Amino acid sequence: MNQARTVGELRQGGYQPKSVKQELRDNLIARLRKGEAIFPGIVGYEESVLPQIENAILSGQDIVFLGERGQAKTRMARLLIELLDAEVPGLAGCEINDNPFAPICQACRERVAERGDKAEITWIPRDRRYGEKLATPDITIADLIGEVDPIKVAEGRYLGDELTIHYGLVPRTNRGIFAINELPDLAERIQVGLLNIMEERDVQIRGYKVRLPIDVYVVASANPEDYTNRGRIITPLKDRFGSQIRTHYPRRLEDEIAIMEAELTPFPAAGFQFVEAAYMQEIVAELTHLARKAPEISQRSGVSVRVSICNWENLLSNALKRAIRLDEREVAPRVSDLGAIVASTSGKIEMETLGDGGEDKVLGKLVQKAVLNVFNRSFTGGELDQVVAAFQGGFGVEVADMMPSKEYVRQIAEIRPLHAAVKKLGASDPASTAAALEFVLEGLHLSRKLNKDTKAGRYRYRS
Ligand SMILES: [Zn+2]
Repeated sequence: MNQARTVGELRQGGYQPKSVKQELRDNLIARLRKGEAIFPGIVGYEESVLPQIENAILSGQDIVFLGERGQAKTRMARLLIELLDAEVPGLAGCEINDNPFAPICQACRERVAERGDKAEITWIPRDRRYGEKLATPDITIADLIGEVDPIKVAEGRYLGDELTIHYGLVPRTNRGIFAINELPDLAERIQVGLLNIMEERDVQIRGYKVRLPIDVYVVASANPEDYTNRGRIITPLKDRFGSQIRTHYPRRLEDEIAIMEAELTPFPAAGFQFVEAAYMQEIVAELTHLARKAPEISQRSGVSVRVSICNWENLLSNALKRAIRLDEREVAPRVSDLGAIVASTSGKIEMETLGDGGEDKVLGKLVQKAVLNVFNRSFTGGELDQVVAAFQGGFGVEVADMMPSKEYVRQIAEIRPLHAAVKKLGASDPASTAAALEFVLEGLHLSRKLNKDTKAGRYRYRS
C-alpha cells in the first residue's frame, strides 16, 4: 500500500483520525472476535486481572494497577502497545505527534496554514507512541508536562504562546499511552498538573495558563498501601482513573513454575544437558509461596516473581559449575545447591524484624519447609519405609555439592528400595540420580526419619 506523504494525500485516501481510546477499543474488539489472548505470555491472570483490563479498555477508562512488586504491572502497560495501530500518520517534525488534520502545537498550526495540503506527514510506529516514567519525589512539571522557555518569552513572544514551551514527557506521548509507575511518589503539585492535563486539557506552567488538548491513555501503578494511605494521592486524580485493578502473585504453584521457565535468561546449552527436575522447580516455587506468607518478611512490599526466576537461575548455575568442574555432561540441581538462592533472594525481600538470627536464618527455615512440603507431596506415608529400614541396618550415604554423580550411584548400588524412589522422581542418568537421592534423603531427614551430620561442606545421612 502506498502511504500518504502529505496532508492532501492523506485526506484523499480517506483517513479518519481516532482517539487513542477508540483505537485501543477497536483493536481489542478485533482480538476478542478472533478469540486471541489480550496479553500473550501473562500467566495466572486469566480469571482475575485480564477481564477487568478488557472492560476498562472497552469502556475507554484509564487504569491504575494496584499491586506489590513483581506482579507484571509494567509489563502489562507495555503490552498495551500491541493494541495500538501498527502506524498512525502525524505531522512531520512535530514534537508531540500532532494529528495532521487538527494540530495543536503552534509550530504545526503555522506550517499547515502556510503549506496547506502540501504539509508533510510522517508515519509513527506504535512503539514510539508509548512513554513510561518511574515516579520519584523530585520529578518536576518541566519533566512531565513542560517548561516555558524564558529566553523565548524575553524575545517578545506573548505569554501563553505555545512556541515558548519545551514539552515534557506527557505531551510527547500525545496520541499514545503514558505509563507512570509508583504514582504515590509523585509530589502533590505534580499530581495536580497530571490531573489538569488529563481532565481540563490545560495546565499552569510557571504561572502561565497553557492550553494543551492532548490525547493520552494513562496507565498508572502503585503499591496498594501507599495508594490508599490518606493524603498520598489527591482525590480528584483517583476519581480520574476509571478502573482500579488489583494485581496479585501467581495463586497456583504451576503458574509460578511456568513463569520461571518462560522468564529464565536463556543461554546456548554449550554441550551440556540440563536434566528435567520437576521437584527442584517445585521447591523454588514453594519457597517463594511460603515467603509470601511468612510473618518475618514484609508482605507490604511483597515477594516478587523475580525471586523465583533468579533463584531457579542460580540453582541451575550452581549445578552447571559442578558439571564443568567434574567434567560431567548432565546438569541436575541438587538440594545441596540450595545455598545458591541466598544471593538471589536477599535483596528482593524486606524483613519485618531483624531479631532471632536475621535473614539467613529465616531463609534457611523456609528452604527446609519448602523441601519438606514438596517431599510430602512426592511420597506417601509408608512408601519409603524400606529405605528407612536399610539405614537402620547400618547403612549411610555421604553427599556434597561438589561430589561426582557417579559417586552417588556407587554408594546406593546395594540399596534396592532407594532405586525405586529415585526412579519415581524420573532419574535415569547419574546426575539426576544424585539429585533425586539428595532430595529423598533430605526429605527423610526433615521428616525426622534420618539423622544428618555436617562436616566441612559434606553431609552424611545415617539412622
Ligand atoms: Zn505539532
